[in-house]
Amino acid sequence: EKAKNSLLYLDGVSVSFDGFKALNALSLVIEPGEMRAIIGPNGAGKTTMMDVITGKTKPDEGDVYFSGSVDLRRMDEASIASLGIGRKFQKPTVFESHSVWDNLELALAGPRGPFAMLFHKRTRAEEERIEAILTTIRLGEKRDWLAANLSHGQKQWLEIGMLLAQEPKLLLVDEPAAGMTDAETAETAILLKEIAKTKSVVVVEHDMTFVRDLDVKVTVLHEGSVLSEGTLDHVSADPRVVEVYLGR
Ligand code: ADP
Repeated sequence: EKAKNSLLYLDGVSVSFDGFKALNALSLVIEPGEMRAIIGPNGAGKTTMMDVITGKTKPDEGDVYFSGSVDLRRMDEASIASLGIGRKFQKPTVFESHSVWDNLELALAGPRGPFAMLFHKRTRAEEERIEAILTTIRLGEKRDWLAANLSHGQKQWLEIGMLLAQEPKLLLVDEPAAGMTDAETAETAILLKEIAKTKSVVVVEHDMTFVRDLDVKVTVLHEGSVLSEGTLDHVSADPRVVEVYLGR
């Protein structure tokens, strides 16, 4: 019932590995059009949480709903992806020997795959979508570059673009700022904010400068559940958060 108006609804989610609780009654609600930053020390359960959302890991207990009433616990990874949940891992996995444009076109072809693309005459509408994505990911001028020649940050943006080509409703992004220059990090915050105007975004991040730039609600995970939630200023002032970060 509470889940009805939410895009993503996790309630009481627990996951154990050999008796160790990686997630311990985790609850998280993401509204349509919301961007949320997830922080927390190593081992807090951030990756496991993403794995539960994408169906890679099945919870032992708890509810996981998407778009109100879709029960993700009953679905496999491919079906969950096709609902419109896109995940970007930390390490970019672009096709290095293809151009920026071709990478986006391949992503647009989606499950039809590279082979089908050979026989596919792209439509004007598809070209316009690729153009729009190029603008969003700041790579319009580099459309003909081989992906191999992009900087680390630009590869991350291209991969975000490849996810956008699949028109997700929810984008899960794992440490986008890792390994980026300061300028790229600042630009990534702006870029994600633009994307979040039309999609929900969940960002797992360690870089607090970047989290500050995002300027969104922050959820602090610790030992598999939510320790604190609110603005970055609010959670930074929370004594429990201070203890977890400084007490180690
Ligand atoms: P984070 O991403 O916040 O660093 P993780 O979700 O990766 O945290 O891990 C949470 C805890 O669960 C860690 O203590 C980790 O060692 C453990 N863990 C994660 N995945 C597995 C697994 N497949 N098998 C055993 N333990 C795991």
